[in-house]
Amino acid sequence: MTDKKLKIATVSLAGCFGCHMSFLDIDERIMELAEVAEFDRSPLTDIEHCGNCDIGLIEGGICNSENVHTLREFRRHCKILVAVGACAINGGLPAYRNYIPLEECLGESYLDGIGVENPQIPSDPELPLLLNKVRPIHEIVKIDYSLPGCPPSADVFWKFLTDLLAGREPVLPYELIHYD
Ligand code: SF4
Repeated sequence: MTDKKLKIATVSLAGCFGCHMSFLDIDERIMELAEVAEFDRSPLTDIEHCGNCDIGLIEGGICNSENVHTLREFRRHCKILVAVGACAINGGLPAYRNYIPLEECLGESYLDGIGVENPQIPSDPELPLLLNKVRPIHEIVKIDYSLPGCPPSADVFWKFLTDLLAGREPVLPYELIHYD
């Protein structure tokens, strides 16, 4: 472990925060982590923009223009960028909408769906534009590592981060990442 604390940033793009919740399942080990690392932009802090970081953990795929912007900001500022979980790696559950035309998805959600009142498709200019398809993050920027799972377990986060923090090439044993 180094004397200088490493900086970690995390973000949820088109995800459900389940990967972040799983990360927090490292429980009391977070105190050990806090001795060698500090958090930059993350749902765990109030920091809005990613500063220069050693490690960026990305949960979720890319479903709108804001996701693209945020992901590129992370890539610019993080030495190591990590795709965390199925949504970041291959689009995951949100990518199920790729089988249905976007117009149909919007119609079902905001115009014709059960229980819709005051039907109208949101058009506030402040809203980020939806992409036609949900994309995995490696289609937008270069990714250095991937943590598989939906979500990856707390032990996967722990093994991965402690390897990196110790200057070792991360190795995830089969027992940690098997889903059979
Ligand atoms: S991979 Fe699973 S847990 Fe993680 S954001 Fe996607 S749906 Fe949620």
